[in-house]
Amino acid sequence: MAKYTPMIEQYLAIKAQVQDAFLFFRLGDFYEMFFEDAVQASRELEITLTGREGGAEERIPMCGIPYHSADNYIARLIEKGFKVAICEQVEDPSQAKGVVRREIVRIVTPGTVMDARSLGESNNYMVSVTETREGSYGFAASDISTGELFVTCLEGSLTLVADEINVYHPSELLAPQDVLTRLRAQAAAGWASTTVMTPREETIHTAADAAVRLEDYFAEQELASLPPQAKQAIQQLMGYLVETQKRSLTHLKHIRLYEQNQYMIMDPFTRRNLELVETVRDRTKKGTLLWQLDKTVTAMGGRLLRRWIEKPLMSASAIQERLEAVDRLYHQLIVRDELKQSLKEVYDLERLVARIAYGNANARDLIALKASLQQVPLLKEICAASGSATLEQLTARMDPCHDVMAWIDDAITEEPPVSIRDGGMIKAGYHAYLDQLREASTNGKQWIAELERQERERTGVKSLKIGYNKVFGYYIEVTKANLPSLEEGRYERKQTLANAERFVTPELKEKEGLILEAQEKMVDLEYQLFMELRDRLSAHISRLQLLAERIATVDVYQSLAAVSAANRYTRPEIGDFYELRIEEGRHPVVEAVMEDGVFIANDTSLSREEGSMLLITGPNMAGKSTYMRQVAMICLMAQIGCFVPASKAQVPILDRIFTRIGAADDLIGGQSTFMVEMMDIQVMTEKATERSLVIIDELGRGTSTGEGMAIAQAVIEFLHDRIGCKTLVSTHFHELAHLEETLGSLRNCCMAVKESGRQVTFLRKLIPGAASTSYGIYCAQIAGLPAGIIDRSYELLNAFEARAELLQGQEQTAVSHSRTAVAKQEPGNAPGDFSANHLGEAPAAPKPQPEQVKEAG
Ligand code: ADP
Repeated sequence: MAKYTPMIEQYLAIKAQVQDAFLFFRLGDFYEMFFEDAVQASRELEITLTGREGGAEERIPMCGIPYHSADNYIARLIEKGFKVAICEQVEDPSQAKGVVRREIVRIVTPGTVMDARSLGESNNYMVSVTETREGSYGFAASDISTGELFVTCLEGSLTLVADEINVYHPSELLAPQDVLTRLRAQAAAGWASTTVMTPREETIHTAADAAVRLEDYFAEQELASLPPQAKQAIQQLMGYLVETQKRSLTHLKHIRLYEQNQYMIMDPFTRRNLELVETVRDRTKKGTLLWQLDKTVTAMGGRLLRRWIEKPLMSASAIQERLEAVDRLYHQLIVRDELKQSLKEVYDLERLVARIAYGNANARDLIALKASLQQVPLLKEICAASGSATLEQLTARMDPCHDVMAWIDDAITEEPPVSIRDGGMIKAGYHAYLDQLREASTNGKQWIAELERQERERTGVKSLKIGYNKVFGYYIEVTKANLPSLEEGRYERKQTLANAERFVTPELKEKEGLILEAQEKMVDLEYQLFMELRDRLSAHISRLQLLAERIATVDVYQSLAAVSAANRYTRPEIGDFYELRIEEGRHPVVEAVMEDGVFIANDTSLSREEGSMLLITGPNMAGKSTYMRQVAMICLMAQIGCFVPASKAQVPILDRIFTRIGAADDLIGGQSTFMVEMMDIQVMTEKATERSLVIIDELGRGTSTGEGMAIAQAVIEFLHDRIGCKTLVSTHFHELAHLEETLGSLRNCCMAVKESGRQVTFLRKLIPGAASTSYGIYCAQIAGLPAGIIDRSYELLNAFEARAELLQGQEQTAVSHSRTAVAKQEPGNAPGDFSANHLGEAPAAPKPQPEQVKEAG
């Protein structure tokens, strides 16, 4: 067995505590990594791998980074989804007997970074999920960089948990191992690729988590109404935070308990497909609804807007409240501008406050806090004058925290340095003894200037000067040429340079002692005063957090109003009714990114009387999916309290939007597109209610035409007969148009096209009736396929169609036989119309028999 040196033994013992993290092992001015950590880190960080003798036969792989630039390297590792444990020397090396004692002081993980470099402006959530024996789940989401903590309980399937996780896009997910495994197995887990999974093993961690007393962290009233599952999830979260952060987390104060059904529910695919906060293609913000609506000025406003978009409201009165504020600001450009100007002066209060609580705020942060607080009276004034009841209420509850502002103003200089260890932070007049020390130091410096003058006079050397450096302290410097002018025995030689000598005298030495002592005391005292102030502020975190949230809310209102006004959006009528009516609706994002041409507006009307289901046919590129998404977007915007892109809109509150819109990159975890689609549809059939909006694009593609069409029809019938939700379905199968005759609430419609010869123009207008062909060959033609292929395609098409007609004649007879048999059981069903075009279908494919499919379902 290899015998290592004591230091390496120590390293190994500490490393054993953090198997899943890189161990940054402090050695003097470096953090060193050894063994496998070193090999991997050198690769990930592109730093040189070296080796070190460690007592064993073979050299130990090693790499290191200077401690002062560690933040950079930590940020890079975190970004790649790793964890970093920071191990410091915890005793003075000169006092140590044997190996210096070392301890892990903090473990940085993707969900617990506090460094601005890694954070960006967005929220950085960590989600904690626990499961009870009864199969219900506790769910907590927290952002320790802002101090937010949301909790809820979820009953039933793990799908609900996946939906909820997706609301937060967490960078880290804590859960017992088997819950993680099951979550991972869910194809719908759209967040899986970027979230770091941290298992909390039953045996190792539950005891540690249980040792955390929530009463030590939260006030009684915060805990009083929490259900046990929610407590469990918080317990697990706090257990992990205590384990990794090893310090106070006093800014996690407010527990915000909510129920999932307070908000509209969307599954991960729907969120992705509607491109609410990131695009499907490259996961960026540009081109999303958030991007279109975000004219917020502050970072916290930006985060809050994102949360509003992720969590559309279900309460009509809460939505009306928001709409009222947006409405008032919509009509007052000047007020909006004033708000914007004032908000520009407000820093990221949530982050500042979190840093104060976390203990890493510097004096500049306090100045930023002061500057932000100075804006509050003005903000309140503008809001109060806006004439909006919502804004008035909001400002009435805004505590300007005058006391906090005054404390900072009294103590901290206007332009303090970054470091809190070098002095220069505390104002004159704040502390009597500090003032005295400063005076002593200033006097000392004056005394030295005077000494310089005297020495020049005494020696007659005009170039003589008194300087200072860290190693030798104060010195008198004389050039070599002038050395003979110095009085023998008076000067003691300290340092020789190329063409000068440096000396000290006993009186200079004495004064130096006094000056340096005063300076050292000054720096220490400033540090101490700063810490006292920071601690005093810590006690007011809660007030500052509430203020931050209210300012963020004002910012979001100003943003929604500005976007609504700039794009001619209108205030939707919203309530708990069934009908959805949109006049001249537009897609907010497609409209915004259109470079040439105008967006063609379309109406939507879905009601029980006139039909709640649209079957949309039409060629590719005609605008079907844009139209369907636009309907979903308008409903969603209304429910977050924003105006909508339409000339008039009456929007019912939806409990859920369900979309199944195909995208090229549907392949997750090796599942086929078709399988994914079917699993989604399964969830939809289980979860959709009468109050839901269901959107399915290209229903039934991905399998044979016959099967696809059969499934499509069966799904449509199920939604129509059993659920009664508002539904928009687009399909290639023109054959399904016959359903209009049998399903009372279904209406056919299509995107209008203008044909002249082989030329087709898309009019982007939704019109009643079914399309007759899908113009696939036309699409191939505009895509630039060779003319030979296009001509041959038309030729084949004609031949297929001729054959299909022939076959159909034969089949019609067969079908009508079986139909009479079924019709006896279900007398209400009228025979289907199969006379539409059969483009693209293999002539021999079996025809679906609608009634039989329905029976099987
Ligand atoms: P489909 O789903 O029928 O294949 P899309 O909805 O993807 O068609 O629309 C194709 C393109 O047509 C879109 O990228 C968009 O640029 C344009 N488009 C769609 N609807 C409209 C509209 N109402 N007005 C103007 N352009 C539109």
